[in-house]
Amino acid sequence: MGKKCECPACFFEWDNDDDNVMEGEVITCPDCGVDLEVASVSGNQLKLEKMDDSGEDWGE
Ligand SMILES: [Zn+2]
Repeated sequence: MGKKCECPACFFEWDNDDDNVMEGEVITCPDCGVDLEVASVSGNQLKLEKMDDSGEDWGE
């Protein structure tokens, strides 16, 4: 089982063993270590987005 993930930062692909993963959950890329938010779950695939763009300053 498991869902296919692809890291948008380094394009590493892997299977997530957690079968109950939901939108909004945060997954860490096992390859580059970036935090990724689950944008959507479609079938057997997770769409992941970077939590924040390091090039962008949120103005804290
Ligand atoms: Zn990555």
